[in-house]
This record gives sequence, C-alpha cells and structure tokens, in this order.
Amino acid sequence: MSFAGSLNAAQRATDIARIAAEELDVLVIGGGITGAGVALDAAMRGLRTGLVERRDLANGTSRWSSKLIHGGLRYLRQGQLGIAWESARERHILMTTTAPHLVHPLPFIAPLNSTLSPLGGALTEVGVRAGDVLRLASGTRRRQLPAPRRISALEAQRLVGGLRTDDLRGAVLFWDGQVEDDARLVIAVARTAASKGAAVATHCTALSTAAGRVQVRDEIGGTTFEVRARTVVNACGVWAGTIDRSVRLRPSKGAHVVVDARALLEPRAALITPVLGESARWVGATPTGDGRVIVGVTDDAFDGPIDDEPAVGAAEEDFLLDTLSLALQRSLTGADVLGRYAGFRPLLDTGGGSTADLSRSHSILESPDGTLLTVVGGKLTTYRRMAQDAVDRVVARHGGPRSGTASQPLIGACARGATTGVPARLVRRYGSEAEAVAGLAVHDRALLEPVFAGSPVLGVELLFGILHEGAMDIDDLLDRRVRLGVVPAERRRAEALATDLFGGLAA
Ligand SMILES: Cc1cc2nc3c(=O)[nH]c(=O)nc-3n(C[C@H](O)[C@H](O)[C@H](O)COP(=O)(O)OP(=O)(O)OC[C@H]3O[C@@H](n4cnc5c(N)ncnc54)[C@H](O)[C@@H]3O)c2cc1C
Repeated sequence: MSFAGSLNAAQRATDIARIAAEELDVLVIGGGITGAGVALDAAMRGLRTGLVERRDLANGTSRWSSKLIHGGLRYLRQGQLGIAWESARERHILMTTTAPHLVHPLPFIAPLNSTLSPLGGALTEVGVRAGDVLRLASGTRRRQLPAPRRISALEAQRLVGGLRTDDLRGAVLFWDGQVEDDARLVIAVARTAASKGAAVATHCTALSTAAGRVQVRDEIGGTTFEVRARTVVNACGVWAGTIDRSVRLRPSKGAHVVVDARALLEPRAALITPVLGESARWVGATPTGDGRVIVGVTDDAFDGPIDDEPAVGAAEEDFLLDTLSLALQRSLTGADVLGRYAGFRPLLDTGGGSTADLSRSHSILESPDGTLLTVVGGKLTTYRRMAQDAVDRVVARHGGPRSGTASQPLIGACARGATTGVPARLVRRYGSEAEAVAGLAVHDRALLEPVFAGSPVLGVELLFGILHEGAMDIDDLLDRRVRLGVVPAERRRAEALATDLFGGLAA
C-alpha cells in the first residue's frame, strides 16, 4: 500500500542525492514545526524545496510544548490584539481544515476559590468572553468551541473530580484547542510537504552557510556535501544564532511534569490556577487521550547550554506541583510524577522585562544579500502563518504564486469520528490513515497488541513510523513517533520490540 509523502530510509537517500545535485529555490534548515511549515508552503508554490534537519523531525522545542492550540487568551490579557487575532484565526484553520484529526476542543476551568479574588475572577471572565469574540470573528462555530460561562462548584467538580471544594465559589468554563501530539503535527506537515515535492533529509546537519551555499553533513552516511539554494531559510528555533550569528535570542525555559490522570480523579477538563503573586501567569493541568495529565508550565530566562532534551530541575517540579495543588483536594508530590520534559522558547531579544513579557509574535530577519532568511519566535499554533510570511518574502524577491496552505488539509486530515473496527488511539493519531495503519498487521495480528502490557501504544505504530514516517533509529521511533520517551520506564519496556522491528526490516 502506498502512502502520500511517505518518508523512510530509501526516500531519505533519494532526497539527499537530489538536494546535493539540484540548485534549489529554497533550502530550509531545521525540521521543527516552523521549518516543516516553510517547506510545505514553498513546495505548494511550486518552488524547488529541500529541508535538512540535524537529527529528526520535531527534535527541538516543537515536541516540548504544552500541546495547546491557543486562541490567544494570554495575548489578550497582555493587550497584544494582533497576535491574539492571528492565534484565533490559525486555531480555526487547524481545527476545521488543516488538522481536524489532530486538533480538538478542550474544556478548561478556572476555579473561583481563595487563590483568585472576586476581582481576579471577574477579570478572568471578561478575558474569556473577549476570547469568545475572537472565536466568533475568526469563524469558529459554537459547536466546535462552545461559549464560555460561569459554572457552579458542583459542575466544576464533575469536570475535575480532584478539585478542592471547601473554598470553591464556582468556576469559569471556557474552551480552547488541544493538539493530540505536537510531534505528530510536525510529522504531518513534513509528510504533506514531501507529498508536494519537498525533499526532506533528516539526520543532516547544516554546518555553515554563505551566499546560498550550505555545507551539510549526513550524520548517518558520514559524508559532507554542498547544497545550493537561491534562498536559505534558517528555522533552527532556539539554535537560530548558530546559523546566523547576528540573531540575538533570549531563550526561556518551560518545564512540564506528567502525572497519572487518576491523581486528579480522571479530569474531563483542563484546570488552570493562578501563580500566586503574579497577575498574568497560570499553571495548568491538561488531560491527554491516554490517561495522563500534563502539568505546566514554567517560564524562566535561561542562559546555559541549549540541550535537545533539557532536564527538569527539582525547583521547577516543586513549583508546578505546589501551585497546582492549591486547587486540589490532595496535594501532588514527586511520587505522582511519571515523567518530565522541558523545552526552550526561541524568543527574540527585544530588551528588558521578564521572558514572560517578551512578545510571542514571530519575526523574519533577512541577511543583507537576501540569501538567508531567519524565521524565529511564534508558536506551534501560528506556524502556518509564520511559514506563509517567510515564503512571501522569497516570492517577493524571485516571484511565485500566493500561499495555498490555509486550504490544504494535512496528511491524515479528516473529521473526528469513530472508524469501525479501528482502535480509537489510531484514529486520534493517524486520522484518515488509521485504517491503513491497522492494516499493517495483516500478516502479524500481534502488531495490533500494545507494545507492552498496559501501554496505549500499538505495535503497528512502530512499524508505520519506520516504513512511512521517517524514523531512522529507535530514538526517532520511541521519542518522536509514539512519545514513549516522556515516561522513561515505559520507553525501556518498548526498546527490544523497536530494535527487533528495525532489525527485521533490514534483514
Ligand atoms: C515549554 C513550552 C511550551 C509551549 N507550549 C506551546 C503551546 O502549548 N502552544 C503553542 O502554540 N506553542 C507552544 N510553545 C511554542 C512552540 O513550541 C515553539 O514556538 C515552536 O515549537 C518552535 O518551533 P521551531 O520549529 O521554530 O523550533 P524547533 O522545534 O526547536 O525546531 C528547530 C529545529 O532545528 C534543528 N536544527 C538546529 N540546528 C540545526 C542545524 N545546524 N542543521 C539542521 N537542523 C538544525 C533542531 O534539531 C530542531 O529540530 C511552547 C514552547 C515551550 C518552550
């Protein structure tokens, strides 16, 4: 069976040969959401497009997000109307056209309790109502994102069973978007780009770039080759300064912990609670499809080395658990934590203030000779718009049609709904491809079993990751295709199967 935009070892070899031989219109450096988005936009405009990524798709910040597709509430609070509008608009496009299989509505509650003064509660309600005006203006229907409203303490506790009720006056209920898995969104964008003709070369590091000539090292083959491109797009996120030394970033670290949903009595809504002493910061607990809750997020200036997999410190973990526990019947402790992850926000250095105050809008910086564009900042939510703006700059110089990405469904896009006989997890994660993914078990029914007892991940997901989603090694597979790496103990239990599958396919 063939899959559009299939990525695998053979396709990678073809793509490397192509970008080494052909002069490209656009070479994108970086395979996060920004780079994948730029590659898709450029390929759809008929530009000869390549992408190089030093490790794997979604290797960087793009897999460490809070997995929210924000309608811009936070920016409304900060008075940044432009970016709030852009976020609401992009959320609409993702939920209705480009990725309705991966992005779904999520109810949130802000409890009105002793941590939130009556004035704070009233302001929260005003904020979510303003967010609802943006929803309306961006065209998102009420059946996709219902209206915000005040709810009783009883209703709030029905949504989040673990909520503390002794000081609860009620709650504000509102809706926003959640992405099933941020790394899967990147993979869907990259595969869609490949289906439109982009060459996608992972495990290829850009070593240097000058006047449209980029030296690239194939990290698997060990060779170094040159790629020539009329425009090079630096989409290296928090590492953008390594490609263009003039780019000045002020990274901020954001940490999350992952707990079992049973610790919050299986919440059906996300819970947000204010950080004491700060007017615009919250800690949230968002339930995921697999019985987990993600608790986050911190926002602290960081000037140390930028790792791909930053550790979460004890102080960060305590801050998250302590803040959330103020709203819970039972305080969470380290014993409740199954996994931890952190990432760095690629924020442009625009001077003083805390990193929480730095703008989340994106910027496009152009080298004096116009051959190097750096796209930086922004959000997962607004990736499509960032990409469109970047490729608009390319076509302004060299010519080309308008962006078509707003109406281009990503691979797998389909309305959510049950597909008879296909495991629900596959439908949530693979959308219209779910049936075909399940079909990979036709000769080995065991592949429809969990990768270990009690795991939500099925064997076919590993096989599909290798055959069609560009996983080149077990890290790609376990950490970025099925995300078992977030809970290290679970990852270890799946390593043998992943190794066997790679071995079996190579034999
Ligand atoms: C903690 C946290 C929570 C967040 N939560 C949300 C959220 O809920 N919703 C939302 O909309 N946004 C969120 N964001 C923001 C969002 O995640 C980022 O803005 C976005 O992922 C940045 O993507 P990127 O592609 O620009 O960078 P990255 O994802 O970091 O991609 C850059 C890529 O470049 C590659 N690279 C680096 N150097 C080279 C080289 N020399 N050659 C080749 N490749 C190279 C890296 O390996 C990496 O894969 C969050 C951010 C953080 C940190």
